[in-house]
Amino acid sequence: MKIAIVGAGIGGLSAAVGLQRAGAEVTVFERAPEVRAGGSGLSIFANGLAALDALGLSEDFDAVTDRSVEGFAAGQRRADGRWIAQVPNDSVGALRIVDRADLHRILFGALAPGTVRTDAAAVAAATDGTLTITAGAVGTDSEAQLAAEQRFDLIIAADGLHSRIRSVVAGRTVAPRYSGHSAWRGITSVPVDLGRAAGESVGCGRRFGIAPLADGRVYWFAVANMPQDAVFADEKATVESMFAAWHRPIAELIEATPAEAVRRTPISDLSHRLARFHRGSVVLLGDAAHAMTPDLGQGGGQALEDAATLTALLAPLAERGAALRAELGEALHRYDALRRPRSQSIARKSRLMGQMFQLDSPLLARIRNAVFSVVPSRLIAAQAASVQRWSPPAPPR
Ligand SMILES: Cc1cc2nc3c(=O)[nH]c(=O)nc-3n(C[C@H](O)[C@H](O)[C@H](O)COP(=O)(O)OP(=O)(O)OC[C@H]3O[C@@H](n4cnc5c(N)ncnc54)[C@H](O)[C@@H]3O)c2cc1C
Repeated sequence: MKIAIVGAGIGGLSAAVGLQRAGAEVTVFERAPEVRAGGSGLSIFANGLAALDALGLSEDFDAVTDRSVEGFAAGQRRADGRWIAQVPNDSVGALRIVDRADLHRILFGALAPGTVRTDAAAVAAATDGTLTITAGAVGTDSEAQLAAEQRFDLIIAADGLHSRIRSVVAGRTVAPRYSGHSAWRGITSVPVDLGRAAGESVGCGRRFGIAPLADGRVYWFAVANMPQDAVFADEKATVESMFAAWHRPIAELIEATPAEAVRRTPISDLSHRLARFHRGSVVLLGDAAHAMTPDLGQGGGQALEDAATLTALLAPLAERGAALRAELGEALHRYDALRRPRSQSIARKSRLMGQMFQLDSPLLARIRNAVFSVVPSRLIAAQAASVQRWSPPAPPR
């Protein structure tokens, strides 16, 4: 079975690992000159860990993460550090914080040499499995001359939030929708003592998140309402001044992060839910299918679930070395049924969480905090479980 994967992000690489190990002939096309992780840290909850396990990557992942964060006090704090609500330790199952660079290294390292072709951008995909690839930077004059068509049994579009291939499946353009807030992210260059407390601190239209890595360094994010095209002369100085009056050790965390490692990303999801995740021989995976705001820390976890699901469904066909069109169609249909409702429901919840935590009005923020402080822990546990409890499907008989 010849499979093309467009995009070497978490989604594309994890699908490549699973399908290659299942016996498929996999090529990953990445438009960037090298495979690298965007962003800084990543929270992976029990569902993402189950997907990594299904893909045979648990051992490697365990080697770069640990469970210490599960023993930290977590939940929401006010800007002055007083707790609004502490999440009961047993309501969030397993949780790991990983440096994205480590996760990318693990995924890339699990592939056969030569699987990923960099500097190779997909410019078109057809439902019969024809993929048009250009070598070299997109937009150069030489693009047309270098374009080459290749035919595959399956094209997996894992080309992210701004997916070019999404419209082939959706039948129309489904554009990213800006949430109204952007996030700075960073990882400290040295360990910082967190006093065994992590989670998010929320103010009016601003939020700060703290997540310890296994080696004592700390992944942090700072979120603020702003126009999507806001420009700041100095990103680190801006975030420092925005959160200067917030509780310890927020200022220390920003201070301990090199200025060039503090990056800002506009937060977006998709303007519409897709009515399908596949058409013909093209299937969407990860952010290309269901980009979501990061308010539940689930975008990467959902991409891993997609990869593990597709692997489980396609493994019997890949093993045989050939797939009848009808069998492939059936597997993709099942992928759609398993993945679309779940990922879209999580995307909806995530957006709602973001809207709630980014409330600008001091009055509404006070009401939100008051409500959060009285939510029963069993309700929090049930909500968390509905997102974080997941297992891969049994392969078709
Ligand atoms: C601030 C922030 C915090 C987050 N925190 C978390 C978290 O804690 N936990 C979590 O699970 N998720 C989190 N996420 C979400 C997570 O980062 C994404 O869901 C995940 O990275 C999506 O992976 P992907 O492989 O689908 O897409 P991407 O990572 O976007 O990868 C797409 C790849 O495709 C390539 N590409 C694009 N177009 C083409 C083309 N035409 N041809 C070839 N290659 C192409 C790109 O260069 C890129 O390498 C967060 C997101 C943000 C913005």
